[in-house]
Amino acid sequence: MTARLFVDGGIQTSRDNDFVVFQAHCVGGGTVINNGIALRVDQPGLIHPDAPDVLEKWASIGAAVDKVRFGAAYDAVEAELEIERIDPKSGLNNGAHLLAGWHVYTNETNKLVNDASPALWFRKNYGPRRIGADCAYCGYCNTGCPYGRKNGMAQSYLIKARAEKARILADARVLNILWHEELVDGKCVAAGVDVEFSDGQRRTILTTQGVVVAAGTMASSRLLSASGIDGAGEGISLNIASPVSALMPENRPVRAWDEDQMATYVDRGDFLMESHFQPPMSMASLLSGWFSDHASKMQNYSRLVSAGILFPADRRGRLIGGKLHFKLDNEVDLPLIRRAIATLARVHLAGGAVEVYPALARGGTIYPDTDIEAFLEDGIREADDLVLSSSHPHGGNAMNADPECGIVDLDCRVHGTTNVLVTDASVFPSCIRVNAQLTTMAMAHYATAGRQVFPVG
Ligand SMILES: Cc1cc2nc3c(=O)[nH]c(=O)nc-3n(C[C@H](O)[C@H](O)[C@H](O)COP(=O)(O)OP(=O)(O)OC[C@H]3O[C@@H](n4cnc5c(N)ncnc54)[C@H](O)[C@@H]3O)c2cc1C
Repeated sequence: MTARLFVDGGIQTSRDNDFVVFQAHCVGGGTVINNGIALRVDQPGLIHPDAPDVLEKWASIGAAVDKVRFGAAYDAVEAELEIERIDPKSGLNNGAHLLAGWHVYTNETNKLVNDASPALWFRKNYGPRRIGADCAYCGYCNTGCPYGRKNGMAQSYLIKARAEKARILADARVLNILWHEELVDGKCVAAGVDVEFSDGQRRTILTTQGVVVAAGTMASSRLLSASGIDGAGEGISLNIASPVSALMPENRPVRAWDEDQMATYVDRGDFLMESHFQPPMSMASLLSGWFSDHASKMQNYSRLVSAGILFPADRRGRLIGGKLHFKLDNEVDLPLIRRAIATLARVHLAGGAVEVYPALARGGTIYPDTDIEAFLEDGIREADDLVLSSSHPHGGNAMNADPECGIVDLDCRVHGTTNVLVTDASVFPSCIRVNAQLTTMAMAHYATAGRQVFPVG
C-alpha cells in the first residue's frame, strides 16, 4: 500500500536526498495515509504559550487572515471531522511512555520552563467513541486505515461532494490550466484543464465557473508553473521530523506496535516531540545502525519505544526543475536539532529506557551515562548525518496582498486571474510549525465557504 498510496512509493526526496518528503498519491490526499492528528496553530492549552504566533507572522508579511473567520473555519472543519481527544486506551504503550518520561524529566530539570509545555493525548479525526467503530489501534494509519475509522476526505467531504453530483476522476492527472485568449479587467480567465489518464490518453475538461487547485505543495506549484504562473514553488517550508527510538529493559517489553501509531505529544515551543511507532518494515527504515547492529535492534522490536522531534524550517526551499531544493541553515537548524534530540533522549531515559537510538547515519547508541551533548555535537555536522523527513511540506504559492510577494491574494485567488483558486497547504505564507492537515482544511473553508468564489456569469 505504501507503493500505491505515496508519491514515488514513499521515497520522494529533496534534490540532494537530505530529506524524504512524504505525500499522498490517491483520492483523498494526505488524509488517507495520515494519522488524523488535529492541531490548530493557535489553541491555548494545546500549543506552547511562547511558541511563535503564526497568524501574527502572516499579518506582518502581508498575509493577514481575519482571525475570527479563521477560527470559525477551524470550528466548522472540526465539527465535520468530529475532532476529539483520542481515547488513551489506544496508546497505552508507546504514547504513555512519552508522557511518563516527560513528567519525570520535567521534575528533574527546569520545572518552571517545562511545565508550560503542553504534554497531551492528541486530538484526532476518529470521531466520538462508538461501540464497534472505535479506533482498532492496529498501527496501520499510514497505509490507509484498514477499518475506515478515520474521518478522512473519503469518509467526509467527498461523500458530500458526490451528493452534489461531483465526478471523481481517480486516475486523472491535471497537466496544466488553459486560458481564454481575452482578458477580463486585465486578468486571465481559466477556460479548462488538460488532463492525462493512467492509460496515457489526454482530454480537456472545460470550466463551467473556474478552477480550484489543491494538488499539494509540490504538485500545485508545478501545475501553476506549467500554466504560466511566474514565481510558483518559491518559499517552501517544512516541518522536519527525525525519529529517536529507545530500548526498554528486558523485563519491560512494551509492545509499542500494538496501538495507535501516534498518540501523544509535548510542545516545547521551538520544537515538538510526538510519539510514533511503525510496523516492522518501516520501523526498520527509521532505526539507526548497520548490519548486525541494526538486526539486533530489530530483534528487540517488542522492547522498542519511539518518538520523533518535529521542528519548523521556514521558507528555506524552492522547486528547481520541479524538484525540491531545500537546505538547512547550519547555524540555526543544527543547534536546534541537537537540542531537540538531546531532550527527547533524556525523556526516553527518564521513562526507563536503557539505550537510545537517534537516527544518525553512522549509528551509535546513547546510554544513561553518555555525554549526550558531546555525542550529538560530534555526530550531527550536516543534514546528511541523520534521517530527516517531512510529511508537512507547505508554502510555495504563498498568500499575500501584494502580487509581487505572493502567488494568491487574501482570498486564495491566483493574482492576475479571475477564476483560479489554490486551496491547499501551498498557500501558507510561512511555516506553521504544527501538523498541517487541520490548518490546510480550515484555509480551504476560509476561502470558500458561504462565499461567491467565482465571478457571476
Ligand atoms: C504519512 C503522513 C502522515 C501525516 N499525518 C498527519 C497528521 O496526523 N495530522 C496532520 O495534521 N497532518 C498530517 N500529515 C500532513 C497532512 O496530511 C498534509 O499536510 C495535508 O494532507 C496537505 O493537504 P494538501 O491539500 O496540501 O495536499 P494533499 O493532501 O497531498 O492532497 C493533494 C492531492 O492532489 C492530488 N494530485 C497531485 N497532483 C495532481 C495532479 N497533477 N492532478 C490531479 N491530482 C493531483 C494528490 O494525489 C492528492 O490527492 C501527514 C502526512 C503524511 C504524508
